[in-house]
Amino acid sequence: MGGSEIPRGQIDRTALRDGLDEVAAAQRRATIAKSADSYISAFRSWIAFTELMEIHPFQPTVYDVSNWVAIMRKGSSAKTYVSSLRWLFRHHNASLSWDNAFLKQQLDGFDKATRTPKADFLYIDWSLAKKLVAFSYSRDRVEQAILYAVSAAVMPRLKNELLPLCWNRLDQHSRVVFDPENRHVKILLKSRKNRPEGDEIVRPCLCRGEKHPLCAVHALISYRHFRQFPAGYSGAIFSTSYTTFLRQLRADLKALEVPNSAKFGTKAFRRGTALEMANSGHSLAEILVAGGWKSSAFAHYLSSKDVDFEGLFRLIDKADEKDDPPEAGASAGIKRPRSS
Ligand SMILES: [Zn+2]
Repeated sequence: MGGSEIPRGQIDRTALRDGLDEVAAAQRRATIAKSADSYISAFRSWIAFTELMEIHPFQPTVYDVSNWVAIMRKGSSAKTYVSSLRWLFRHHNASLSWDNAFLKQQLDGFDKATRTPKADFLYIDWSLAKKLVAFSYSRDRVEQAILYAVSAAVMPRLKNELLPLCWNRLDQHSRVVFDPENRHVKILLKSRKNRPEGDEIVRPCLCRGEKHPLCAVHALISYRHFRQFPAGYSGAIFSTSYTTFLRQLRADLKALEVPNSAKFGTKAFRRGTALEMANSGHSLAEILVAGGWKSSAFAHYLSSKDVDFEGLFRLIDKADEKDDPPEAGASAGIKRPRSS
């Protein structure tokens, strides 16, 4: 009975969001006014969430609701959000078929479940990214080191955004521009997932006195010097293929004794930097914008303190699946590089 096959565009979500004020007013009359604000934020979060996941807001399956609940940090906020949703559905005479034993079980076991270590959620935070950069330089793998630094600093999608990056071919793919004092790098993309009209990514220089290993500005500048591109060269910056990059990443992680090294994908950089931003106080909206994720508006309706970041990134990761294809033969194990 899921609404997931309903084509996008058939639902006027702006009208729905606007209509929520009316719903909220009714809610305010019906219950104590104090809870109205938390109901409204739950409603808005739900509408934005269904947009993000491309499901019909009033025809979810229990799994859709369960996914929404899974991004809450605490069982108490999860329960509040679900009771708000029940209220919204009753107000719209919509089916509550999702409100079943499965969901109840999830809500009852919520706090216990969220404390369980999530072994399959692999990410590369900045301290690990720095180790990868240093390790690659120590083995004279300069391009790999630069790709690690830019992956961590810029949060690009590896396959479609970073690896095909061009110095100055915006008509085909992209362009890299430094400001005269090398304080920023601007990466212009002809088109981007969720932004077919193109995008501009700006990242500042992170160097303070000494060179920061994850500074995108100076990683790209030093790579330009290293490769000695011919004057006027405007084409592709990197020559590594996606498969080669991924195999080397896993080999380097293994050499650094990182557990589950063979299961890492290139999205681990995006997740790691997103978590890094979350831990340093950036808002969800800022994080979703930085990563070029869909529906950064979604984040405006969720309070950062209510959200379990791992749960959220696990979900939004799905939108990137095509960028991180499993490598052929990965399950057979990754060969270690021959140590010299
Ligand atoms: Zn710098």
